[in-house]
Amino acid sequence: MAERLMAGGSTSEGAGGSSYRAPVADITEALQVAGVWDLLQLPDFAHVDRPTVEQVVVEFGRFASEVISPTDAAGDSAGSRRDDRGGVVTPTGFKEAYGRYVEGGWGSLQFPERYGGGGFPWAVAVALQEMFASANMALSINPVLTQGAVELLLQWGDDRQRDTYLPRMVSGYWPATMELTEPDAGSDLGALTTRATEQPDGTWRISGTKIFATWAEHDLADNIVHFVLARAAGAPAGTKGLSVFLVPKRPPGPSGEPGVANSLRCARVEEKLGIHASPTCVMEYDDAAGELVGALHGGFRVMLTMMNMARVSIGAEGPAVAERAFQQAYAYARERLQGRRPSTPPGERAPIIEHPDVARMLLQVRTLTLASRMVVYAAFAQRDLARHGAGEAERRQAEARFGLLVPIAKAWATDQGFLATSLALQVHGGSGYLEEAKVAQRLRDARIGPIYEGTNGIQAIDLAVRKVSRDGGRAMSSLCDDVMATVKVLPLPELGPTAQALEEAHGALTEATAWVAEKYTSSPDDVLAGAAAYLQLAGVTLGGWVMAKRALVAWRGRPGGGAGQQEGQAEVAAGESNFFALETLSDAPALLRRVTAGSGRLTPLWSSRPGLA
Ligand SMILES: Cc1cc2nc3c(=O)[nH]c(=O)nc-3n(C[C@H](O)[C@H](O)[C@H](O)COP(=O)(O)OP(=O)(O)OC[C@H]3O[C@@H](n4cnc5c(N)ncnc54)[C@H](O)[C@@H]3O)c2cc1C
Repeated sequence: MAERLMAGGSTSEGAGGSSYRAPVADITEALQVAGVWDLLQLPDFAHVDRPTVEQVVVEFGRFASEVISPTDAAGDSAGSRRDDRGGVVTPTGFKEAYGRYVEGGWGSLQFPERYGGGGFPWAVAVALQEMFASANMALSINPVLTQGAVELLLQWGDDRQRDTYLPRMVSGYWPATMELTEPDAGSDLGALTTRATEQPDGTWRISGTKIFATWAEHDLADNIVHFVLARAAGAPAGTKGLSVFLVPKRPPGPSGEPGVANSLRCARVEEKLGIHASPTCVMEYDDAAGELVGALHGGFRVMLTMMNMARVSIGAEGPAVAERAFQQAYAYARERLQGRRPSTPPGERAPIIEHPDVARMLLQVRTLTLASRMVVYAAFAQRDLARHGAGEAERRQAEARFGLLVPIAKAWATDQGFLATSLALQVHGGSGYLEEAKVAQRLRDARIGPIYEGTNGIQAIDLAVRKVSRDGGRAMSSLCDDVMATVKVLPLPELGPTAQALEEAHGALTEATAWVAEKYTSSPDDVLAGAAAYLQLAGVTLGGWVMAKRALVAWRGRPGGGAGQQEGQAEVAAGESNFFALETLSDAPALLRRVTAGSGRLTPLWSSRPGLA
């Protein structure tokens, strides 16, 4: 495994425990498991072939490790700061790295050629997002939001909006933001109060305060396109009264160049646990000029386009941060000498990687990284199929599956990212707890994934209620059928533990799905109390499924099978799948019990403590 992990086509900015090496071989494999080579057969992707995709992954991997990654540590220690004129100054090196990213056209890969994009699948673009986030998670969120906003404008903008903004947003020349949250409206967006007032000429004026606005002010570009969720005068209460407004920092004049400053300002940049270089802004809008995007009062649906894309992209932060933490922990464990093993020569000490418990932790980090990466890529592959699939039926089915996968990819992958960084820190012992080792930064950065873009608790409710119960469990059952089809073709005995655990997980997920679909109408609280466990169950099952598929691909391509694989690769992939099956997938039966336990188990908190009932 060592040769593959440390060579494997990886690229690096240099030696040392905190440098990043793009795991090119693993990423290419994940693209295959997600079905990207099949996507390339579709007519809309006729101009893209596999060698080109592989080359893009290698080239961006090099860019991420050589240009972006060196800005990461300085960004963490300096952070982005508000200056006394209300501007936000980014850490040293950010401007140049971002400029080179824009110049290279890296952020435009998945968008229509008409607006300067490359017309590649989103499932390829997410690989670049992941490498960017590994290299510098705080900076990577900027293009993630811009790319989500591009999707929003592609789907909902009118011709003038698209022609004015898309070429500049697709390139990243004008980055974009997503501004939903207010002091009293977080998970509950229907409570937001930012006002929009229509002007006689059909334009709008926006007033209100947005909090937690990521990258809403900075010095990386000469314009920023704010996408603000607000309520027009006379609109109904709740989410049905929301509309989306495009509010440029400097509205463009007739030539398309940024004009005078709009009446909005960054009032504060928050101090926070991680992603220090990503400015989290309090934004004040004071009759700022804006334009409506999509239907008046239809803003929740419009914003959902951006939110869905951003959620899966945030999911990619899970494997991204886990990958980098793994590389640090693996390098450390090979060098740190403590204790002895039976095979240690007299007078010497063993590198800690030889201790079974350390090997267990490392393999746990590695398999969580692999599994969460493939789940995220698979979600975007369904989005590609939903837009570019051959027939109407295929597109409809893919749309339903994408909708199902969005909350799982976001929540399960970010949870695994945090778990993995914690284990990687543990491998370092006390050194890991010190900032110097730079693995603590991974843990701090990873902690935001389960919170923003809709907390993982809200994702679990979305999955159980909107995606499963309201659908009668159909989309999930179809996914379960595909899991079972893989179980049936797994080679035995090499993948015996995988086959057994995956079959059990399939049974647990099938039973839980039927329960959730049936129970929500009569006992919603019972379903809500088990929603997080249901999402975890779906996540581990999908994780087990993609690990099995990866092992299967390697098994079919082993030497003599004609695919030119490295010696031992199939055995390693089978071993990793079996490890995941034993350490993670085997939680499925316990998760099923937690899904169906009902809300009665909450009564100790709700009814027996004074003041809580
Ligand atoms: C660093 C950072 C960057 C951010 N960037 C952006 C951004 O760019 N744009 C933007 O608009 N927002 C952004 N956010 C805001 C983020 O999306 C919200 O913090 C998040 O959605 C949760 O909202 P809240 O903080 O108000 O928590 P609350 O909604 O108050 O939730 C508190 C807790 O209660 C739970 N909860 C709430 N309602 C329910 C319910 N109905 N059922 C079950 N549980 C519930 C939540 O899961 C959570 O655990 C950012 C936040 C941070 C910290």
